[in-house]
Amino acid sequence: MKKNTSTNPYNGESINSYNRDTQESLDIKLQSSLSVENQWQETSIKSRSKLLSKVSSLLVERKEVYGKLITQEMGKPIAQSISEIEKCAWACDFYATNAEDLLADELIETDASESFISYDPLGCILAVMPWNYPFWQVIRFAAPTLTAGNTVLLKHAANVSGCSKAIEQLFLDAGYPEGCFQSIIAGHEEIERLIANDHVKAVTLTGSEKAGKSIAKLAGEHLKKSVLELGGNNACIIWEDADLETHLDTMVMARMQNTGQSCIAAKRFIVCEDIYDTFMEQFIAKVKDLKSGDPMKDDTYIGVMAREDLAETLQQQINDSIAMGAKNVLGNERSGAYFSPTIITEVTPDMPIFKEETFGPVAAIIKAKDRAETLALATDSRFGLGSMLFTQDIDAAYSVISNIPDGAFFVNDMVKSDPRLPFGGTKASGYGRELSREGILEFVNKKTVYIN
Ligand code: NAP
Repeated sequence: MKKNTSTNPYNGESINSYNRDTQESLDIKLQSSLSVENQWQETSIKSRSKLLSKVSSLLVERKEVYGKLITQEMGKPIAQSISEIEKCAWACDFYATNAEDLLADELIETDASESFISYDPLGCILAVMPWNYPFWQVIRFAAPTLTAGNTVLLKHAANVSGCSKAIEQLFLDAGYPEGCFQSIIAGHEEIERLIANDHVKAVTLTGSEKAGKSIAKLAGEHLKKSVLELGGNNACIIWEDADLETHLDTMVMARMQNTGQSCIAAKRFIVCEDIYDTFMEQFIAKVKDLKSGDPMKDDTYIGVMAREDLAETLQQQINDSIAMGAKNVLGNERSGAYFSPTIITEVTPDMPIFKEETFGPVAAIIKAKDRAETLALATDSRFGLGSMLFTQDIDAAYSVISNIPDGAFFVNDMVKSDPRLPFGGTKASGYGRELSREGILEFVNKKTVYIN
C-alpha cells in the first residue's frame, strides 16, 4: 500500500506515515459526503455557525498541540505555528458571527412582486492545499464553505498528512456530522479522478502556478468551478519619505516570517535611491539580528524550510542571479533544509530572483531612481497577489491605487490576510477570492428568484 511519510525537516526524524486512500476508500468517502449532503443543507445557518464556534474554541484549547504538529511536520517556529492556530480561530469566529447576514437573501427591486438572490450550497467541494500554513489555508476555505452548506474533501500536501488528519478530527470533535469534512490522503492521479466525479461540484487549489494550470485544465474539461490561490512575487515599494523608524520591523517580517515561505511575502524590495543607503544599513542590521535555530524553541524566528529540495531550489535561483551580476550582501548559506536569512542587491528584472517566486528567506533589493520607476519595476511581474508601499505621502499613495494591477495594495503595512477582507490574486497568482463576503460566496449557487 502507498504511504505518505511525514519527516521533521529540522532533524530528519520520521514522524509518522499514513496509508494513501485506495479507489475503494475514496468511493466510500464520496458516498459518505453524498449521504450527509441533504441533512447538512437543511441544517440552519445558525446551527452550522454554532458548530463553527465550537471549532474556534477547540482550536484555542488545542493551540499548543496543533502548533507542535505544524512545527514538526514543516519546520515553522513554534510561536508562529501557535499564532497560525489563533488566526484560524479568528476566521471561524468571523464566519460564525456573520454567516447568517452574509448568506441572507438579497432583495432586488424589479417589476416582480418580489425578486431576490438566494445563496444555495453547491454540494461537495474538493480542496487541494499546500504545506506552508497547513491549518490556516484549510480553515480559511473550509469555515465559510461548510457554513454555506457545502461538504468538503481535503487533499493536503503530502508532507503534512498529520495536519490533514488532525483537522478532520477537529471538525468531528466539534460535532459536524460524519461526511461533512473528510481528509483524503492521495496523489495527483486521484485528484484527476475526483474532479471528474459527478458528485464533486467545484475545486479550490492553494499552491503553485504549475499545479494551478493542471487543476484549472481539469476543472475546465469537466465544466466545474475552480478557485486558484497561487504564487506571488510581491513588491515592497519604499519611497524616499518612508518612515523607517516606524515600519522597518514590518518590512523585515513581511519577507522573513514563516522562514520566507509565504505567498504574500515581500519578495522584491524596490527602494528609491534617496533613502537606499539608510534603508540598507538598517535593514541588514535587523535581518542579521533574526534568531535562527530549533523551531521548537520559543525564541526562534527563522526555522528550517519545509523540505531540503526547496532550500536547494532557492539556492539555485540565488546563485543563477549572482552569476548574472547580483551581489550577495548577507547569508546565502544552506545546511540541509536550513537557509540563512539572505539579502541580495543589484538585482535586475532579467534575474531569476526578480522574475520568479522565491519561497524562502531571501530579500531581493532593487534601487530605483524615483517614485515612477519604483512603480514601473513593481508592476513588472507575471504575478499579481499584492504590493505594499511605504511612504508618508498618503495623497500620492491614493493617486497610484489604480496603477497597481494586483489583488491587494497595502500602504504602510505588509500585505496580510484578514477574515474581514477579501484575499486573492490576479495574473499568474490565480483567480477567485477567499475570506470576507467574497469568500463565502465563491461556492454557492447565486440563484435568481422572481415571483410575479
Ligand atoms: P504545490 O507543489 O503546487 O502543492 C500544493 C498542493 O497541490 C499540494 O497538495 C500538492 O500535492 C498539490 N498538487 C501539486 N500538483 C498537483 C497536480 N498536478 N494535481 C493535483 N494536485 C497537485 O505547492 P507547494 O509547494 O505545496 O506550495 C507553495 C506554493 O503555494 C507557492 O507557489 C505559494 O506561493 C503558493 N501559495 C499560495 C497561496 C495563496 O493564497 N495565493 C498561499 C499559500 C501558498 P502534493 O503535495 O501531493 O504534491
